[in-house]
Amino acid sequence: MAKNQRDELVFVPLGGVGEIGMNMGAYGFGPERSRKWIVVDCGVTFGGPDLPGIELIMANPEFLEERADDVLALILTHSHEDHYGAVLDLWPGFEKPVYATQFTAAMLAAKRAGDGIVENVDITIMRPGKAFDVGPFTIEAINVAHSIPEANALLISTPAARVLHTGDWKLDPTPVANPPTDIARLQQIGADRSTPLALVCDSTNAMKDGESPSEADVSATLAALIAEAPHRVAVTTFASNVGRVVSIVQAAAKAGRQVVMSGRSLHRIMGIAKELGMLEGLPPLLDQDAYKSIARNKIVLICTGSQGEARAAIARIARGDHPVIDLNAGDRMIFSSWAIPGNERAVIEIQNRLIDKGVEIITQKEGLVHVSGHPRRDELRKLYDYVKPDMLIPVHGESMHLQAHAQLGRDAGIANVLEARNGDMVRLFPEPQVFPAEVRTGELYLDGLVLCTPEESGVKGRRRLSFGGHVVVSLCVNGSGQVVSGPDLFIEGLPETEDESLGDLVEHTISGVLKSMPPKRRSDTEALNSALFKAIRNEVNAYWGRKPNVSVFVHRV
Ligand SMILES: [Zn+2]
Ligand SMILES: [Zn+2]
Repeated sequence: MAKNQRDELVFVPLGGVGEIGMNMGAYGFGPERSRKWIVVDCGVTFGGPDLPGIELIMANPEFLEERADDVLALILTHSHEDHYGAVLDLWPGFEKPVYATQFTAAMLAAKRAGDGIVENVDITIMRPGKAFDVGPFTIEAINVAHSIPEANALLISTPAARVLHTGDWKLDPTPVANPPTDIARLQQIGADRSTPLALVCDSTNAMKDGESPSEADVSATLAALIAEAPHRVAVTTFASNVGRVVSIVQAAAKAGRQVVMSGRSLHRIMGIAKELGMLEGLPPLLDQDAYKSIARNKIVLICTGSQGEARAAIARIARGDHPVIDLNAGDRMIFSSWAIPGNERAVIEIQNRLIDKGVEIITQKEGLVHVSGHPRRDELRKLYDYVKPDMLIPVHGESMHLQAHAQLGRDAGIANVLEARNGDMVRLFPEPQVFPAEVRTGELYLDGLVLCTPEESGVKGRRRLSFGGHVVVSLCVNGSGQVVSGPDLFIEGLPETEDESLGDLVEHTISGVLKSMPPKRRSDTEALNSALFKAIRNEVNAYWGRKPNVSVFVHRV
């Protein structure tokens, strides 16, 4: 058998397939025992209220660490957190290059500087249309429209087969501040029948019919809303959506209004956009200090906090504790965004506060003030038509999105639709097949400054504490079982009512246990310890209806 015939091309999703977030996938090429690997994206998911204290979650890269010598490079499709947020946490240890476009590279550098991160990675700038080689792979970035500048699909070619890894994309014919998806190049890829082509594709909006509206439509809506507003207009959006910010600035200029910007991430990202020449011809963006000096009907405020973040500008304005900015009755506040699942409540809270101030709220429900950066069903169909894939592997979605996307692909007549999940090994060539759960994968938590597995993290104990509080008892007994010091008591997180204190209850329980035990037995610290533990848990449970966490320290002196 010729060597070429033994070569396999495989895809291993480590994160982002079966969930929306923490995207990370590996492509391996070569005979099974000597494959070379490249990694595409290295993102995070944000921890929710079910994970107290955990800010970020990322894919466990154990599989890659086990073959680190054969892992050649990381390629970033774009600089959304779910695609590049874990680079500085996970990648430095590999000591291999990262390929990214200029904007993504600048975003990474700014993140590193802003968060004071010591670790660094070696970045090589890639440009759409300029293919480069990494081991047996040839990689070409292809410009796609999305909700951030410089988003790319990747054409990954090997001698045996090719992959079009779409990243996040849409077919927006009129994006703002970024060229449209390079359809001509996609059609060329489809026309090349030299080797089989796998399409690894965004499933986020695979349940939505039609096509995503264009960024230009949003721009027109925002322009009208700004032009006709009687007083102040404030807009909150994703800071990374440079095109959206540009639309707002253009609309403000047309309406004869000045733009004030508030929020660290907005300043950071617009600084990068300016440096890269993306803001050419736009009027200056003023700092929040200018806010008070501009007439009410001559201002547009752009601010951060569209996800309800408590410390961001819009939350502070809504609470009335922003140092410089306030909104009053008759002002207009536009949410040019959507709430990522888990953030809805916090966003609604802010909107309610603003409504109570008499501020007019405009969201997606009132008009086309936001669009998704992901393809709907008709756009997916068009992409199949452009690239004519032999295989489809839906990614970037929860199970329901992946399933809908797979069905769409089958209905469109794609020969092989492979439904995979994180940890599967997907053979793309030869004989496409999914080998379920072949690969160890999982999550890592960033717990404060500590990167750890869910088991290693303190989350389980933290959750238990949040539910049951904590009772701590400490006392000293001597050799004949007499209490010579204590008991000292510390209680936290248990209810305190006026008629009976749980502190008193615990104290009574302790003295009851001490009285019930003969002195000889009390000198056995282990026996005393366990008797106190059980009695306190049972008594508190009988009163409160919940078992607290109990720590007893009995010392022998
Ligand atoms: Zn994404
Ligand atoms: Zn994205």
